Amino acid sequence: MTGIPSPAFPAGMRAALSLTFDVDAETGVLMVKPSGWNDAMAMTHQAFGPKVGVPRIMRILAEERVRGTFFVPGWTARRYPQLIASILEAGHEVGHHSDLHYPPPTMAPDEERRDFERALETLQAQGVDVVGHRAAWWQASWHTLDLLAEYRFQYDSSLMDDDRPYVLKVKGHRMAELPPHWSLDDWEQYGFLPDPNIGASIEPASKVFELWRSELDAQRKEGGLVVGTMHPFLSGRASRAEVVRQMIDHARACGDVWIAPLGEIATATLAHPDIPEREPDIPDLTLGPYLP
Ligand SMILES: [Zn+2]
Repeated sequence: MTGIPSPAFPAGMRAALSLTFDVDAETGVLMVKPSGWNDAMAMTHQAFGPKVGVPRIMRILAEERVRGTFFVPGWTARRYPQLIASILEAGHEVGHHSDLHYPPPTMAPDEERRDFERALETLQAQGVDVVGHRAAWWQASWHTLDLLAEYRFQYDSSLMDDDRPYVLKVKGHRMAELPPHWSLDDWEQYGFLPDPNIGASIEPASKVFELWRSELDAQRKEGGLVVGTMHPFLSGRASRAEVVRQMIDHARACGDVWIAPLGEIATATLAHPDIPEREPDIPDLTLGPYLP
């Protein structure tokens, strides 16, 4: 038995593959350890992303004629003022990814609002039509969803309670949710830095391709969505960047995989009347003795 493909997908397509790139750069270290600013190894390790990883990945996407979705923290955009222009010029999407990359659940609502609005202003000032969002560490708070509704975002890609696109309705505003998952993130596979410890993994690219390919093949049976999440400071390394090409080549060879940036999948999701619509599913604390 196979599942029915999401009605958001074009006719004949059994699964969708989206290639997304979170250009965290130095924020990935600075938010864990601000004094890491003085560690030239750690700073250059992260700077590899915008300096080498993004151009390399964009070259592969151009060769393969595929559009990607790049989530850029406001801080990264201010540090590398040509970065967003180069991504937009190549025809890719740019989305909101916080300002300083702090996880929203660790921030008070007014702090989160300041961070969110500063990132929005930075991206807009650099010419981005900001319609897409991914929370730092994917860790949206329930308050994040309110901000997305307030600013009329078209889609989010942070929540994990499905592996198909759905419509998230917050305070009357409809947006698409395009769920990611840790198993489809490169950080768990390649994240390594002695100090601060942002991970301790250096896995072969062949293993990562196998992990993601097997999920895509399973989703061709289930009819769902594969959101590949990569960080150019990790997946921009040569053998790892080839996984981008391998995933595209595999998806194309299947003949039934819709390769699209998140914005296109969001548009199709919002336009289709049969896509399930949900409201934020906040657990009821009165069910048990948990105290916030
Ligand atoms: Zn990130």
